[in-house]
Amino acid sequence: METEELLYEGKAKKLFKKPNSSELRVEYLDQATALNGKKKDEIKGKGALNNQITSYLFQLLAEKGIQSHFIKKISKHEQLIEMVEMIPLEVVVRNVAAGSFSKRLGINEGTSLPEPIIEYYYKDDALDDPFINQDHIYYLGLATVDELEEIRMLALSVNEALQDIFEKINIRLVDFKIEIGKTEQGKMLLADEISPDTCRLWDSLTNAHLDKDIYRRDLGDILPVYQEVFNRLEKEFTSCI
Ligand code: ADP
Ligand code: UDP
Repeated sequence: METEELLYEGKAKKLFKKPNSSELRVEYLDQATALNGKKKDEIKGKGALNNQITSYLFQLLAEKGIQSHFIKKISKHEQLIEMVEMIPLEVVVRNVAAGSFSKRLGINEGTSLPEPIIEYYYKDDALDDPFINQDHIYYLGLATVDELEEIRMLALSVNEALQDIFEKINIRLVDFKIEIGKTEQGKMLLADEISPDTCRLWDSLTNAHLDKDIYRRDLGDILPVYQEVFNRLEKEFTSCI
């Protein structure tokens, strides 16, 4: 068997590089973290749920014309993805005020925003992923003006597509974070994951949290709510996987 190299071990995933290939194998871990890793717990079954939810969402996005690094799901907790050079940015799209946005601006959680708002955070654990603006991005050389415009347009397209998907399963897409990388050919590609760890998902009828806020805010067990998101996707989009 070919030996794989452990390329990266993060808070939620391990990436393995296959020799002589641009493909990576990703293992989704049974680990939950918050506060940049200061709060940490093992939650059996979480990795498999996030892998399956992300796989669904990347396939549904592809059907809507949005390509990502996703190649295929290879087991309940593993995927094959295309390796890209990550741009160290967390791109957040908000449709409804919540979390740090509500705190920073004093806007009540749950207030609908007339237009989606995009925010950028510099992905750097040592600095606690600080909030940055476009000028910071150019100064740090993270993206050019044209590249940032492309990132913005991609974030807005992902938002539209995800809103459409979640609406069908009675979920309100409050906000989410994406990460983007560049292929060897210099093409921007949606990467990382899209799951209840990286999105705020509220039940359309009850506003119940179906996401990591359950863990961040000590509101109960995340496993049943992640399972609920997966069950709704599976029921609505059976043909997808
Ligand atoms: P963190 O780095 O925040 O602890 P994870 O445990 O999810 O997060 O680690 C996954 C890492 O893999 C992240 O740093 C992410 O930027 C990176 N990554 C995601 N997709 C790809 C890809 N296609 N190619 C290379 N790196 C990727
Ligand atoms: N988010 C994420 N990773 C991070 C920070 C935020 O996936 O390191 C997601 C989070 O799940 C939410 C959105 O980005 O869907 C906005 O998060 P916010 O800035 O409100 O931060 P928080 O309230 O989590 O501190």
